[in-house]
Amino acid sequence: KVRVRFAPSPTGPLHIGGVRTALYNYLFAKKHDGDFVLRIEDTDQNRYVEGAEDYIKEALNWCGIPYDEGPGKEKGFGPYRQSERKDSYREYAEKLIASGNAYYAFDTSDELDAHRKDHEEKGKTFIYNWHNRLKLKNSLSLSVSEVQEKLDAGEDYVIRFKSPENEILQLNDIIRGKMEIDTNILDDKVLFKSDGMPTYHLANIVDDHLMEISHVIRGEEWLPSLALHYMLYRAFGWEAPQFAHLPLILKPQGKGKLSKRDGEKMGFPVFPLEWKDPKSGEVAAGYREDGYFPGAVVNMLAFLGWNPGTEQEFFELEELVKAFELERVHKGGAKFDPEKTKWFQQHYIQIADNDLLTDKFENELNKKEISAPRDYIANVVDLIKERVVFVEDFWDQGSFFFVSPTSFDPKDSKKAWKEGTGSLMTELVGVLESQDDFTSENIQAEVKNWIKSKEIGFGKVMMPLRLALVGALQGPDLYKIAEFIGKEETINRIKKAVN
Ligand code: GLU
Repeated sequence: KVRVRFAPSPTGPLHIGGVRTALYNYLFAKKHDGDFVLRIEDTDQNRYVEGAEDYIKEALNWCGIPYDEGPGKEKGFGPYRQSERKDSYREYAEKLIASGNAYYAFDTSDELDAHRKDHEEKGKTFIYNWHNRLKLKNSLSLSVSEVQEKLDAGEDYVIRFKSPENEILQLNDIIRGKMEIDTNILDDKVLFKSDGMPTYHLANIVDDHLMEISHVIRGEEWLPSLALHYMLYRAFGWEAPQFAHLPLILKPQGKGKLSKRDGEKMGFPVFPLEWKDPKSGEVAAGYREDGYFPGAVVNMLAFLGWNPGTEQEFFELEELVKAFELERVHKGGAKFDPEKTKWFQQHYIQIADNDLLTDKFENELNKKEISAPRDYIANVVDLIKERVVFVEDFWDQGSFFFVSPTSFDPKDSKKAWKEGTGSLMTELVGVLESQDDFTSENIQAEVKNWIKSKEIGFGKVMMPLRLALVGALQGPDLYKIAEFIGKEETINRIKKAVN
């Protein structure tokens, strides 16, 4: 059975790279009728950030990719927070010592620093492995009784993995294919510390095994750990899951990894939801609060390192589930493009249900203490929808449907309002006043006739009229605007502009 997990560390808000990892896990699980597990990797208490776990869950829910199993959704493999599994890891570290795959090491950090410096001076790099294990303070170099003495005395220790000497490991990754790693370049990674806490490597492997994870799908930054993870599975005698490492997400310029700061600098969110740092109080922008629809963000993320191999660009979540294949995930870094996200958003707002958009716009209007009949708002939505990308834009593009313009764009005024415009507009008021049927078709016919009879250019009338009704030379069909706001308001606005 396919079982995948998303295993974030609650060290802050989930950035879009993390959400993409979650999404690919979700898609893969759903495609194969499998389970999508959330595991919170919180063994590093120093880096624990209040609120991060809730943020992660909320972000997944907002994206529409909730986990099937995890904290609060126990399905027999829990607990799903590593801090709550803490007591089980020691046993596994000790098993590795017993089988000769791991050992105690007592070197202090000062001693290790001194070794590093010493090597550097000779132009070498210090690696804690078979090269110099026996020259260091550990259970491979010390006698059994010396080790026992240290343990009894409560000296600080770590448990290190004993990497094999002179072996070429054959690794496999679904996206990258086969890789070979020479074990001589690997260091003996710390698995467990005397404070009772496992490191990421040990906890991660033990939990993936106990939770019966079949596929590990995670960011490329974990690729260098793959050799160790393979060796750990082997040392335990467990079957390893299959691995897929997702490509890095690069800055829009294409050079270097996208960082949390890029968003601030360039004005686009790199987080799904807004995040307020509990310590500094700093607020980082989120897609949700910036007005993006989840569908747009999910579609954007899906393409950040994957493509369906067809021309199709817009995908509903269910369509992604069907189309998604790990084999089609790219090896190379994926350039992040904030404009592309906007482009997706524009699409999703166009296909959104008008009723829903009317709700949202009505909400915005209420915030401004503007009320209007629901039908009226719905009609405005229908008329200006094609001009908006965000719900917020309805106001920018259509405030004049609700309030008379309070100012006129100076540049547009200069262009539209010439000598003689005032008297022309006053005459137009007369024409409109005699209109009983104030539908756009009717107004259009009458105004057109009048302009023709005056033998003047259309712009001479239409530009100042637009300015009077809208406040600028933009917006949807002018006759529609007149019909929407009604005869009285249309005439008032023209009069106001003349004065
Ligand atoms: N806790 C790790 C992280 O924060 C998980 C890596 C993995 O998926 O193995 O990315």
